[in-house]
Amino acid sequence: MQSISLQNAVFEGENTIYLLGEGAEGPLTLLDSGFDDQKIRAQVEDGLASVGYSVADIDQILLTHYHGDHAGLAGWIQQKSDATVRMHPTDAHLAAHESGAIQELRDRQESSFADWGMPEAKREELRAEFEREIDLSTGTLTVEPISDGETVRAGPYELTACHLPGHTAGHVGYLSSDERLLWGGDVLLPHYTPNIGGADVRLDDALATYLDTLAELVSLDLAAVWPGHRERIDDPSERAREIYHHHRDRTRHVVNVLREFGPLDTWSVSHRLFGELHEIHILHGPGEAHVHLEHLETHDVVSATDGVYALRDSDPDLDEFFPHFSTNPEANQ
Ligand SMILES: [Zn+2]
Ligand SMILES: [Zn+2]
Repeated sequence: MQSISLQNAVFEGENTIYLLGEGAEGPLTLLDSGFDDQKIRAQVEDGLASVGYSVADIDQILLTHYHGDHAGLAGWIQQKSDATVRMHPTDAHLAAHESGAIQELRDRQESSFADWGMPEAKREELRAEFEREIDLSTGTLTVEPISDGETVRAGPYELTACHLPGHTAGHVGYLSSDERLLWGGDVLLPHYTPNIGGADVRLDDALATYLDTLAELVSLDLAAVWPGHRERIDDPSERAREIYHHHRDRTRHVVNVLREFGPLDTWSVSHRLFGELHEIHILHGPGEAHVHLEHLETHDVVSATDGVYALRDSDPDLDEFFPHFSTNPEANQ
């Protein structure tokens, strides 16, 4: 397998895409594709050339989710290679830039911004950001859906698609059971916690969904995860637990903010957590605050009136809604 590092100044730092099957039998496969712009096209070409291939040689592209920094370049590669592109159907319409699907997402985002109490000037800043992202994706892409549990040959590997939602609704990882390896996109990242809430506003209680996904990752007992950004994660179960506990701590933090400052809307909670936000963080900050408030509301810790959240229980037992791992490390042995 060959890792190819790509620049990405927008989201979680540089992207990593993977070439599977060089010099081996089985379809020559790319795992994710990177943003579509001229510089990154050249970086993909150079990365492939370094192991003796060109874009036209690609047989198959397996995509983890619809975000432009993972799926954006798939259309261009498909045009040049006629590669088969596989991804989860829930994300496929967005990756293929079907205008109805994009419009539906934009409408949901706008209604979320209103619910969150986002100031109009910040909404404007975000819309400009979205336009920039659209420009970085190719419009023509034909996707063949892949569903949870389906297997696919990729170079020498027999991979199983694992639906791991939370960051997006249709996020999948590709698992090699024999080697206990997962190509994981943004499900688990080495340096940042993947954004939940802003990254895909289509999910209800995205935090609960993602906590289940983290528990699922631990149960897979993986040897390593190849993420969509940066370097290999060598202790993925440990990293998944760390991120799980990070969300638990953040929920506690949200309760403390409401206790200290009284009833607040999502934007104000986000401001207390993250301060002034710019660029894509205008989406990610309140999105994150939202999923924590929503999770607290589901468990009757807060109540919402016209988008303003008030505490009903100022000292909740977080074990009730972070059910997967005990906070006592002894109990996890
Ligand atoms: Zn993403
Ligand atoms: Zn990403």
